[in-house]
Amino acid sequence: MAAKRVIVAIDGPAGVGKSTLAKRIADKLGFAYVNSGAMYRAVALWALRLGVATSDMHRLEQLSNEARIELPPGEEHRVLLNGEDVSEAIRELKVSQAASQISAIPAVRRALLQVQRDMAKKGSIVMEGRDIGSVVFPEAQVKIFLDADPIERAKRRAIELHGHEENVESIANELQKRDHRDRTRSEAPLVQAPDAQLVDTTGLSLDEVEEIVLRLVRARVSNGKAATG
Ligand code: C5P
Repeated sequence: MAAKRVIVAIDGPAGVGKSTLAKRIADKLGFAYVNSGAMYRAVALWALRLGVATSDMHRLEQLSNEARIELPPGEEHRVLLNGEDVSEAIRELKVSQAASQISAIPAVRRALLQVQRDMAKKGSIVMEGRDIGSVVFPEAQVKIFLDADPIERAKRRAIELHGHEENVESIANELQKRDHRDRTRSEAPLVQAPDAQLVDTTGLSLDEVEEIVLRLVRARVSNGKAATG
């Protein structure tokens, strides 16, 4: 009998804690973990380094098709672009902004969509991003839409960046700009899929969110919803 392959899709706005949560869930379940935002960031970093404008759709399409993006299994948050470790470089503010701009280009999304779908062919996976439950894996057995109050998200991001609550207002502005762009683009906008479960993490600890999400995953999977493949 074919092994059961489970796809857990986690979507939500910037700074809501998707990466940390998705990684923890994947570790607990023994699934692969994929941060799809890191892929858009890697293409954006390459474009910035080459001086390609975020409006140059043709060159950006080429770069998206040619980029060799690797997310080595089991190595937390490590990202390789054409063999180079860019894990730190892709976290810079200018890369976040460029990633948000280039991710609105349909041809860029098409190139990365294929890579993302291929990643799930090998086995069970937790993938997080903006359009995982709505576009990348509409057939995912578990879909979670994480949300939280914008100021709380900015505070969490500030702590992640500086170790304490610093520049919360400017971080909140930056997150808000990216979210607006992600929600209003015509191709694969950030949206809660109709069959996704909304989890509002405002005021909850990471442990509490993890428990809620694990319970949802286990309920779904034990209901026999896992796909064969
Ligand atoms: O998740 P992260 O904040 O690292 O993503 C960076 C940017 O990549 C987002 O602001 C969004 O514009 C884009 N993105 C996307 N679709 C995804 C993941 C990320 O458009 N599935």
